[in-house]
Amino acid sequence: MRRKIVAGNWKMNKTLIQGLQLADEILSASTSAEVLKIIAPPFTHLSAIAEKIKSRTDFAVAAQDCHHLQNGAYTGEVSAEMVASTGANYVIIGHSERRLYANETNDILIQKLNRALSARLIPIFCIGESIDERNAKTHLEAIRAQLKDGLFHLSSPDFGKTIIAYEPVWAIGTGVTATSYQAQGVHDFIRTEINKKYGKEISDNISILYGGSCNAQNAKELFACADIDGGLIGGASLKSADFSAITNSF
Ligand code: PEP
Repeated sequence: MRRKIVAGNWKMNKTLIQGLQLADEILSASTSAEVLKIIAPPFTHLSAIAEKIKSRTDFAVAAQDCHHLQNGAYTGEVSAEMVASTGANYVIIGHSERRLYANETNDILIQKLNRALSARLIPIFCIGESIDERNAKTHLEAIRAQLKDGLFHLSSPDFGKTIIAYEPVWAIGTGVTATSYQAQGVHDFIRTEINKKYGKEISDNISILYGGSCNAQNAKELFACADIDGGLIGGASLKSADFSAITNSF
């Protein structure tokens, strides 16, 4: 049985006080005990939110990134071990905004994954095609390449711990959501590629989340698809009522 998961990526939003208030609201509004809710606030909020959720087995905390090296003279950076030391158990790796604005290459992402797993963090690895790839109908090749070049170096036990987020870049923050037909098509493709590489047991058990303008109105239809196990939510995770409604959309 795959776990149903809804992760909220707060990006660079909310001061500490605002973030703690939002976390409180989400904690009291979310009643779906069988759904794992993962909150991904800025680094500065991790410890305080991890402390807040620690008695709830249906909640966890994620960082939005970690550095690809263990430690050293890298001013302003945060390592995977540091993230783990806050009480966070998850880390988002390879978000398209970081691939774009921080020039993260597959080589860097491979190192980040390895660091995260060594620090016992569960990676939420993001993949997704650009609008040009979608229009040229080369999106499945793009997804295959991202899996092969970013993720498929992992051993079966390590791969089995990860979560994948399919986030078409053209849907992130745009208000344009993939249709459930488009999303299910890619999720099915991802699961098939995983089956070919790691076998049925792992492909049947890995959670694949959809991300890209998912909201309280469209979540139900998306989450009803056979291979969509939940969502990675950006904008709609900043309002407790919307986020909670999404967590109740299975
Ligand atoms: C995201 O950034 O991961 C995301 C899915 O954003 P949004 O929901 O705002 O499209």
